[in-house]
Amino acid sequence: MKVFKFGGASVKDAEAVKNVAKVLSSFSDEKLLVVISAMGKTTNMLEKLVDSYFKSTDSKQSNFEDLKEFHYKIINQLLPQTQSNAFDDIENLFIELECLLEAEPDNTYDYHYDQIVSYGEIFSTKIVSAFLNEAGIKNRWMDAQNFISTDNTYREGKVNWSLTNEKIAKTLSPIVQKKMVITQGFIGRNSANSTVTLGREGSDYSASIFAYCLDAQSVTIWKDVAGVMNADPKRFAEAVKITGLSYNRAIEMAFYGATVIHPKTIQPLLNKEIPLYVKSFLNPNDEGTTVGVSKEEEDKVSTYIFKQNQMLISIASKDFSFIVEENLSSIFLLFAKNGIKINVMQNSAISFTVCVDYNEIKCNLLIQELEENYKVKSNINLELLTISNYENADIKKYAENRKILLEQRNRRSLQLVLA
Ligand code: ASP
Ligand code: MG
Repeated sequence: MKVFKFGGASVKDAEAVKNVAKVLSSFSDEKLLVVISAMGKTTNMLEKLVDSYFKSTDSKQSNFEDLKEFHYKIINQLLPQTQSNAFDDIENLFIELECLLEAEPDNTYDYHYDQIVSYGEIFSTKIVSAFLNEAGIKNRWMDAQNFISTDNTYREGKVNWSLTNEKIAKTLSPIVQKKMVITQGFIGRNSANSTVTLGREGSDYSASIFAYCLDAQSVTIWKDVAGVMNADPKRFAEAVKITGLSYNRAIEMAFYGATVIHPKTIQPLLNKEIPLYVKSFLNPNDEGTTVGVSKEEEDKVSTYIFKQNQMLISIASKDFSFIVEENLSSIFLLFAKNGIKINVMQNSAISFTVCVDYNEIKCNLLIQELEENYKVKSNINLELLTISNYENADIKKYAENRKILLEQRNRRSLQLVLA
């Protein structure tokens, strides 16, 4: 069996959903589990709704209406009114959501975020599943929350692999053998039965979790681009598609900011050597990119990845003690405690410099704590450029007219933090 994933852009309107049906119709011989994201920019709309709910602002009602209107427009274009089940389902879901929004918030922001934002995936899969059934592509809608078990980290759920594996093997696997399954990306559930999301753009990761637990033959991520590019075509006119990537290279690219695949997606696939295809839903017969084993040969292509919104933090001891010997473990503990991931680090005898994703609240808290024992300097609005298979001329070319605040290189890759 195979796992397919369709992201928000592939179901952004009625025409797009029809195209998904077209893509799926050419796989009628396959056993498929299809993971689908929220439609278009729904998750952003829902984020606004959560904000207005939590802060009790006037825009709550209009945000809700916008969301409803957006989905009704699509469903009206896709389904005849006689398909009353689908209409009832959607109607009921909106009533449910409205009830949620009427109650006063009684928990953390992140908790309520997950309970509300997860509706995007539910709406979308309900609509697509009903449309496919109507179009003769018989499928069964399943709630991913019944399978993806997480801890209580709202908005960044950590997967409980053994429980998830058990549920998928026991209940989902026999169903996929018989019928195409349509399910959601991005959402899971904790032991208290509350929804927990896996982090923005987490649907790729969901696809990979399902594939791992189902021992899938492959995962295909259907995108509005031709495959994985070696650079962002908006910034590099000479960007080209990469046809083959090793798992490690793909992990590195995602980690350092290539947005085409969610960073957590690759590891589970690597563990079972399940190949990942990134393909265009507009040109499904085109080759796309394959991530898998024995792709090392093709890793020679150079890649240029910018990660924006970076912060550089320099930490020095107040008493001129050597930072490396005495202080590093306590510094690392503070990063871990504040949930801040280090992208690049560099140390000298008396200072330690790191580049991290800038999150105002988390980073300020970290700096406050560091300042209790260290001298701390920081810079924001920076970019991290990671070049693999670089040439020396690249520095001149890509850092031209920019200030390089940190430079690090090894045999294969070069990283620059640029102001
Ligand atoms: N709908 C979610 C988001 O936009 C998850 C996803 O699309 O992967 O972040
Ligand atoms: Mg999305």
